[in-house]
Amino acid sequence: MAPDKPKNAARRGGIDDDDEFKPSPREAFHTDPLLCESILRKVVSTVPLAIRSSRISMGSGLFAAEAVEPGREIYQSDPLMAAVDSAVNETVCHYCLKDTNYFAWAGPAEATGNSASQGLVWRTVPALRTNCVRIRIADKIESVGYALDLGRQLKVRSLKKIAPGDEITICYLDPRMEMTTRQKILQREYFFECSCTRCKADLKEQKDWVKAGGNLDTLKQSNAEILKLMKRTAAAIKHPKIYTDYEGLDAAETQLRIITTRPLGADWPDHMEPLPTAQVVLAFQQLEQSKTTQALRNVLNGKLVNRRQSRGPEWVNEMDETVLILLAVGNARPDNAALADKGFPARTDILAVACGYLGEACREASRTFGSGCGYTKSLFAMFVTATEKKPGPKPGTEEFRHEFGAAQARLMEWAGVPAKYAVAMTG
Ligand SMILES: [Zn+2]
Ligand SMILES: [Zn+2]
Repeated sequence: MAPDKPKNAARRGGIDDDDEFKPSPREAFHTDPLLCESILRKVVSTVPLAIRSSRISMGSGLFAAEAVEPGREIYQSDPLMAAVDSAVNETVCHYCLKDTNYFAWAGPAEATGNSASQGLVWRTVPALRTNCVRIRIADKIESVGYALDLGRQLKVRSLKKIAPGDEITICYLDPRMEMTTRQKILQREYFFECSCTRCKADLKEQKDWVKAGGNLDTLKQSNAEILKLMKRTAAAIKHPKIYTDYEGLDAAETQLRIITTRPLGADWPDHMEPLPTAQVVLAFQQLEQSKTTQALRNVLNGKLVNRRQSRGPEWVNEMDETVLILLAVGNARPDNAALADKGFPARTDILAVACGYLGEACREASRTFGSGCGYTKSLFAMFVTATEKKPGPKPGTEEFRHEFGAAQARLMEWAGVPAKYAVAMTG
């Protein structure tokens, strides 16, 4: 389903005879040594880099001339185009930035003094990217790097060990998106059919699920219903008194249960998007309405039950969000109704798990984002505060390790999350 080469443009135009099709010559920029030299001169790097013909697909690729350990900065550069308001350059990290109005697609764009329309910025980004760092198009290609936007500085760091002569690759979009959505975007905006390691694994999983009796059409329909439900719930909260049924969030909770318990012929693939994201969004909405019990159950299910067990930038972001809810629930006022329920997890358990997750998030953030990054620093600050407030053993001690393990097991059992999804403490 996902060939390694982009489709022949002639076929798309309706011309079937390949002999008649003469593609216009496409010169990748590695064919111009002066251009490559001037690009590499502008990059600050301790790793010797080279621009050569990409091994993955057509076009140019960036190669490391010596081995790079995971968690190392590969290079820093000033991007060709920045679309961030200078007012937040220094104060907002890339992770928070996407939720603000300062990104180009959310408001007027600024491109180093010149203004650019939102549409132009959006069209330019994929064009620039596909001409800079080539990414997982062919077999067995995995992203080994991660590009981090810090105001107007672009940093590329290694996520995995890179051997001398290896091509440096990054992921073009949020890898947490569901496979067909990823493929659609890559086709529409980057003009290729992705058959990277992750897409292949997702496709194989889907095929296996169908082989086991799963009904793909029903699953797709259910997923569409989940997305619709998310939209309606968000609208109900934003514009009160219109979708009154959905304001209280109980309808969303019930609907989600109905959709996900519908007979599918095989087990509901509970780690498959959009369900995990829907559960987390719902958890934050429930927290706003002091529906503590549901919020805690939904965030644990949405965050822990997924296949993304390998660590990396998205894993840190997810742990961060989980911890926000755990801390809010753990520090809830003593008169909160949920806390009176005997079956509800103990406050000490919730805080122990929050501190454990936060410690792991800090460790991983130092590796993926770097210890100097504002986001990493803010996680550490949160960790220090949470640790100070936490009763009982403090993180870093053997007692805490035991407390964390037992507390996490109890919390997961309460939320109905299988034990195999437990987060391991590495430090
Ligand atoms: Zn931030
Ligand atoms: Zn892919």
